[in-house]
Amino acid sequence: MNSEDFRRHGYEVIDWIADYLDHSDRYPVMSPSKPGDIKALIPDSAPEDGEPMDTILEDFRRDILPGVTHWNHPRFFAYFPANNSGPSILGEMLSAGLGVNAMLWQTSPAATELEEKVMDWLGELLDLPPGFHGVIQDTASTTTLCALVCAREKTTAFAINAAGPAGLAGAGPLRIYTSREAHSSVLKGAKIAGFGAENVVSVDIDENRAMDVADLETRITADLRDGLIPCCIVATVGTTGCTAIDSLSAIGPVAKKHNMWLHVDAALAGNAAILPEMRWILDGVEYADSLVLNPHKWLLTNFDCSAYFVKDPVHLQRTMAINPEYLKTKQDHQVNNFRDWGIPLGRRFRALKLWFVLRNYGAVQLREMINRHIGLAKEFAGWVDESDQWELLAPVPMNTVCFRWNPGGLDEMELEVRNKAILERVNTDGTIYLTHTKLKETYALRVAIGQTATQQKHVAEAWDKLNSCIVG
Ligand code: PLP
Repeated sequence: MNSEDFRRHGYEVIDWIADYLDHSDRYPVMSPSKPGDIKALIPDSAPEDGEPMDTILEDFRRDILPGVTHWNHPRFFAYFPANNSGPSILGEMLSAGLGVNAMLWQTSPAATELEEKVMDWLGELLDLPPGFHGVIQDTASTTTLCALVCAREKTTAFAINAAGPAGLAGAGPLRIYTSREAHSSVLKGAKIAGFGAENVVSVDIDENRAMDVADLETRITADLRDGLIPCCIVATVGTTGCTAIDSLSAIGPVAKKHNMWLHVDAALAGNAAILPEMRWILDGVEYADSLVLNPHKWLLTNFDCSAYFVKDPVHLQRTMAINPEYLKTKQDHQVNNFRDWGIPLGRRFRALKLWFVLRNYGAVQLREMINRHIGLAKEFAGWVDESDQWELLAPVPMNTVCFRWNPGGLDEMELEVRNKAILERVNTDGTIYLTHTKLKETYALRVAIGQTATQQKHVAEAWDKLNSCIVG
């Protein structure tokens, strides 16, 4: 593609995206595609000869778009959000245009140094205590894996990294404690890092669905008695099911007493700590060894952008470091080479989009957006609470409401069947997209509010839709 064609199609694509962001609600929020629909439209082999961009973009609009679920639709209430914005997309485009691989300081000093600065900015907005150092990774799952590997190496004094005489098996069963409501990435990380799924201890939850710290202590004591080795606690600030907040102030001293790693998974909710009135969710974060939150969920920065903060970057680097001859540079002793702060060697220039977002919106507007979403969730919860047809199933400290239709007189099995049917109906015509979860054994409908364009009227539409979908 020559630069003239690039320019022409570039303008066209920008126009298309601008129009899309203004009118994403033109599309069915959840793709109506059936399995195999899109694949059937795509030839079995790549073309031998290049095709014109006009044709490719036309195929995108005609064949691909119908298979897209619109995460930036104002009535997307499923999962946790992945909200987006103009400045973020522009930063992403420049990053793609530069095509930088920020693996070493030398491979793009600006990428490393801007990343250091924007992570300091973010740490300040979150009012993190001094001593945390930030790095951007792809996802919370990856950072939790990093944290587990760091915990493993702390407990074993780097014996597993070095694969001492007996390697992983010789270290003894290393235990990870996390609440029953923790995200599945903890289990996945434990499997990948070699702890084994059986060594992930599911700690009970309290009446707010947060980690029950008395049960945590009981389980650690029992493990010590049985010769197992407490290694890491993963606390969740904002569980995926219902945004329950584990108390870091209560969990921290337990981690400290047993010399265990404390990792805080605040993937969604951590963003809310930029609001002074929500900062309490991170009270006790000074005990943490590591913390993750995803600006790609709730800080207008398009996927992917996961913010990982660590107390001891030297430990992180020692855990992750590789130093082949071909990666050595003469600045190594003066700079951060972020290749040693995470799992992949190659790294995208993600700081650019976060920098654009933080500057273009400013803290005030970002706080306003999060505040608006929390307010809308509370308003929705109020409607549920006031209705004698519906029931709230968990407290609503954040942007997520768990509830079900329950007019009374139906047993649990019948309620599950009827609520599943409601969900199916709500999601059929593409106006609204909701998902479900289970809170203990209770089937719950779930509304998560966090899209850039979501306003009160969209939430009211979801409520009306739910009421019109009651299966009689
Ligand atoms: N942790 C929590 C609490 C989450 O809710 C999620 C995803 O929703 C994750 C981790 C995983 O996030 P990621 O997709 O960035 O790995």
